[in-house]
Amino acid sequence: MAKYTPMIEQYLAIKEQAQDAFLFFRLGDFYEMFFEDAVKASRELEITLTGREGGGDERIPMCGVPYHSAEGYIQRLIEKGYKVAICEQMEDPAVTKGMVRREIVRVVTPGTIMEGKTVADKSNNYLVCVTESDRMMALSACDISTGELYVTSVPSSVEWLRDEIGIYEPAEIIGDSRMLELIQAEQIQWSRPIVYTPWEKKEENLVRSQFGEAAWARLDPERRRCVAVLISYLSETQRRSLGQLTQIAPYEPGNYMILDPFTRRNLELVETVRDRSKKGSLLWLLDRTQTSMGARLLRRWIDKPLLQRGAIEERLEAVDHLYNQFILREDLKASLDEIYDLERLVARIAFGSANGRDLNALKVSLQQIPALKELCASSASATLRRIASEMDDCRDLSEAIERTIVEDPPVSVRDGGLIKPGCSERLDELREASTNGKKWIAELEAKEREVTGIRSLKIGFNKVFGYYIEVTKANVSSLPEGRYERKQTLTNAERYVTPELKEKEGLILEAQEKMVDLEYALFAELRDKLAAEISRLQHLAEKVAEIDVYQSLAAVSAEQGFVKPVLTDGYDLVVEAGRHPVVEAVMKDASFIANETRLTRDDAAILLITGPNMAGKSTYMRQVALISIMAQIGSFVPAGKAEVPMVDRIFTRIGAADDLIGGQSTFMVEMADIQVMTEKATPRSLIIIDELGRGTSTSEGMAIAQAVIEYVHDTIGCKSLVSTHFHELAHLEESLHRLRNYSMAVQESGENVHFLRKLVPGPASSSYGIYCARLAGLPSSIIGRAYDLLQGIEHGAAQAAAAAEAAEAAERPPVTSPVAEEPANPEAPAGAVVQLSIFGEEEALPTPKT
Ligand code: ADP
Repeated sequence: MAKYTPMIEQYLAIKEQAQDAFLFFRLGDFYEMFFEDAVKASRELEITLTGREGGGDERIPMCGVPYHSAEGYIQRLIEKGYKVAICEQMEDPAVTKGMVRREIVRVVTPGTIMEGKTVADKSNNYLVCVTESDRMMALSACDISTGELYVTSVPSSVEWLRDEIGIYEPAEIIGDSRMLELIQAEQIQWSRPIVYTPWEKKEENLVRSQFGEAAWARLDPERRRCVAVLISYLSETQRRSLGQLTQIAPYEPGNYMILDPFTRRNLELVETVRDRSKKGSLLWLLDRTQTSMGARLLRRWIDKPLLQRGAIEERLEAVDHLYNQFILREDLKASLDEIYDLERLVARIAFGSANGRDLNALKVSLQQIPALKELCASSASATLRRIASEMDDCRDLSEAIERTIVEDPPVSVRDGGLIKPGCSERLDELREASTNGKKWIAELEAKEREVTGIRSLKIGFNKVFGYYIEVTKANVSSLPEGRYERKQTLTNAERYVTPELKEKEGLILEAQEKMVDLEYALFAELRDKLAAEISRLQHLAEKVAEIDVYQSLAAVSAEQGFVKPVLTDGYDLVVEAGRHPVVEAVMKDASFIANETRLTRDDAAILLITGPNMAGKSTYMRQVALISIMAQIGSFVPAGKAEVPMVDRIFTRIGAADDLIGGQSTFMVEMADIQVMTEKATPRSLIIIDELGRGTSTSEGMAIAQAVIEYVHDTIGCKSLVSTHFHELAHLEESLHRLRNYSMAVQESGENVHFLRKLVPGPASSSYGIYCARLAGLPSSIIGRAYDLLQGIEHGAAQAAAAAEAAEAAERPPVTSPVAEEPANPEAPAGAVVQLSIFGEEEALPTPKT
C-alpha cells in the first residue's frame, strides 16, 4: 500500500471517527475535504473538485471552502440530510514545529443545529431519541437551539411511537436500531425528511451532573436510559457545554388528547394537506403571537390539547379576560413586539456562540419585562396575575449588559470595539495609549515633512511591515543619510522606518493587541455571568411565551366572533351555530353556513351523514373535531354556543388525502386505521369517518361499513360522525338506538342542484353523482350518455341483484354475523348502488377540499 504524507495520515485517522459525516478538515484559511468526501461534496455544493499529491500513487481528490464562509456550506449539507464534522487546528501553526494537532470540535447533524435556515424562528428543531426495554418504550426530544428537553414512556406500542413522533416532527431520530426500523416501516410521509442514527451508548453520569440528582431521581428506569442515550449523543457530537439544557421535562402521555399523524394532517392542524404550508391551517388562523417563543408554544398547545378541565379553564380565564380588553391586548402586543427570541438567545449564550448583538437583543428584551409584568399584575385576570408573580425581570442582567456592551457592536467578538468606555480602567488606559500613539504618528508625519522638505511624504501601515515612512522615488535623494532604514521597495516609492517610529509602533501594536484581548475577555466574562443565570432567563421566556399565546388566542377569538366553550366532564357535545374556523376565515364571497351538533350519550352518539359530494359533509365533521381541539387547548370556539366534554382521542379516517401510501390500497389503509381505532378508542373518544367503505366493491363496502358502525355503537360507544355514500345504511337508525340519520340539504330545481350546506335530520335521497361530474366540467355528451346508462343500469341491476342474491343464498350455509343477518334495506332502490359505482369515478374529479 502506498504511504501517504503525514498530513493525509492525520486526515485519515480523524476521518475514522466521523465516518457518517463530511469531514471539514481545517488547513489554514480553508476547510478541505479529501477522497470520497471531496467527490460527493463538490457535487452537492457545486464547488470545484481539484486534487493534491498525498504521497500515494494517485492524486487525492480534494475540494474546500473558505473558513469564514463555511457556515452557509454546512447549512446546505445539513438541509440535504448530511452530517458535518468540523475538524480544527488545535495549535497555532506559526509557533508549532511539525504537524499541527487537529481535532473534531463538533459534529453538526440535522437534529443538533443551532441556527440557520433550517432552524425556523417559529418552529422547533428536535432531535428525538427512542429506546425500549422490558416492554416499555421511551422517547426523549430535545431542541438544543431552545434548551427544551422532554421525556416520556409507555408500555410498548408502535401506534404510540408513531403518534408521538408525529408531534415532534424531528429532523433526526437516534436510538435502538430495532425502534428505528419500526418507525421507518410505518411508511408515514413526514413533513420533512428524517435522518436516522442508530445509537446505544449511554452516559448516566453526564445526565446526573447536567441536571442534578433530584431530576435524575424523578425518572423511572426506561426514561433514565432514554435521556442518557440522548445526552451521550449530544456530548459526542457537540463536544462543548450544553448549559442551555437546564431541566428535563417528563410528561405523561395520558394527560393529553391523542392525535395520530393522519388525524393531525386531515384536520390540518399545523399545515395543509395540499401543500403542507402553514397558511390555511388551524395554527395559521390562531397565530397572532408577537414573539417566536410564543409561536412555538402555541404550536405545542395545538399538538397537545389538555384533558384536565381545571388546567384548560385556567387558560380560558386569561383568554376570556383579554377577549374583552382590547386596550390591554394592544398594550401587551406592543410590549411583546420588542422582545426577541429569548430561548434561542439564551441557548446561544450557553453554547458560547452569542455575540455582542445577541447580548444587546437580550438587554432590549429584558427592558420590556417590567412593563409587561405590570400590565399582567394590574389586570383582573387571575391567570395573568399568577404569571406576573412568577416573572423575574432579571434587571441585574440587563443592567450588566447595558454597562458593558456598546450600542452598536460589531458582529465579531474577536476584533474589539464592543466594550463601553468606563467599564474597565485598564481598557480605558490602553485605548488612550493607542489613541495617543496614533496622534503621535500624525504629528510625526508633519514633522518629517518639515525636516525633509518632501511634501508628499506620508506614514502608512500594513500588516506585514507595520508602520512605514513612504517617499516617492523622485524624492529619495532629498532624504538625509543615516536615520532612515529601507524596508520595502515599490515601483514608484521606497518605504523606510526610523528607530523612533519602530519603538512607537511596538507600543501601539502592543496596546492594540492587549486591547482586543481584554475586550474579548470582558465580553466572555459577561457572557459567562449570563450563562450562569440561564435557568432564570428560560423561566422568564416561558412566562413571556404564555402571555403571548393568550393575547393571540384572545385577539383571534374576538376578531372571528368565537365564544367561550363550556367545558364538562360529561359525554355530550352540544354546539349551536358551529362553524369551521379556517374555511370560514378564508371564504371571501359567500358567508359560511353555521350548523348544529348534538352528540349525546343516550340517543345520538353516532350521526350518520349522507348527501352528495360537495354538500359540506367533511367540512362539517372536521369542524366538530376542531371545536373540540380548540376548546381543549384553551381557545374560544367558532360557535354561537358550545358545551364541550373532554375528548381523550380523535380518530379521523378521511379519504382523498392519503389514498395511496406506500403502494397500499385505499381499502387496506382504511381497514388498518379502523383496526387501530377498534383497539384504542374509548367511550370518551371522538371518531370521524368520511366515506366509510369506499375503495372496495359496493356490496362488500356496505357490509363492512355497517359492521363497523355497529361495533362503534355497541362496543366502543363513543361519539362518532360517519359520512357515507351508502344511503341504504339509513335503516340502521331503526336498529341502533343511539344512531341518528342526518344529511346535507340540497335544493333541486329542474336539472340544477343548489347546496344549502345545512345539516338536516333524515337521510339524503340520492347522491347526485352525475350532477357533480357536470359541475366538474365534463362534456355534455358524456353527461347525457351517463344519464342514459344510469337509467338502463338501474333497471337491469334490480333484476341482476335479486338473481345473484338468490344464487348466493342457495350456495352458502347461513351466516350468523350481524352483517349477513341484517338484510340490505329492501326499500332502497337497487339503482342507488349502481349509482355509486359511477360515483366512484368521482375520485378522479378535482374535488375542492379546504
Ligand atoms: P363533501 O364532504 O360533502 O364532499 P365538503 O365538506 O368538501 O363537501 O365541502 C365542499 C365545499 O363546500 C367546501 O370546500 C367549502 O368551500 C364549502 N362548504 C362546506 N361547508 C360549508 C358551509 N357550512 N358553509 C359554506 N360553505 C361550505
